[in-house]
Amino acid sequence: MARTTPPHERRILCTSCGGLLVVAHEAKSVNCSHCHQRVICEALTLKDYMAVRRLRTANAIRITKKGHVLASIWCEKLTVEGRLKGDAISLGRMSVSRKAEVQGDLRAKTLTIEEGAVVRGVMRIGAEHIPKHEAVPQPGAVPQPGAAPRPPARDSGIRFASEE
Ligand SMILES: [Zn+2]
Repeated sequence: MARTTPPHERRILCTSCGGLLVVAHEAKSVNCSHCHQRVICEALTLKDYMAVRRLRTANAIRITKKGHVLASIWCEKLTVEGRLKGDAISLGRMSVSRKAEVQGDLRAKTLTIEEGAVVRGVMRIGAEHIPKHEAVPQPGAVPQPGAAPRPPARDSGIRFASEE
């Protein structure tokens, strides 16, 4: 039988402590239940000059052709069509378009660089280079008791793809 109610929630990793969070699709930001930091979870499109120390979202970031961003970036998907100066981590895809100019170290699960793009920096690509839940230790971020391995439950209501 077809599912009539689409899921309204998605899983993200806290951009501060890496803890797993479940948020509503429409949520623009949430407070992390692990480290209590604010976590931005809306997609960002950067069309202008922007200089900040850190730019983090548990969603996609796109730097358009006229965008010129000076920041260290953390996101789930990164598209650079303009200029980026700063290190960037994408938990998922990263794509650098043909007229883009990137100066900084890049880490991503997968990377696409179009012919003509200029990239200066060290690239570490592949799932093993992406921060994992436990790979981002933060003082005070102790494992939650509820996060401990649970005994097989008959009806936990939770399904993981890896358990299929
Ligand atoms: Zn957190």
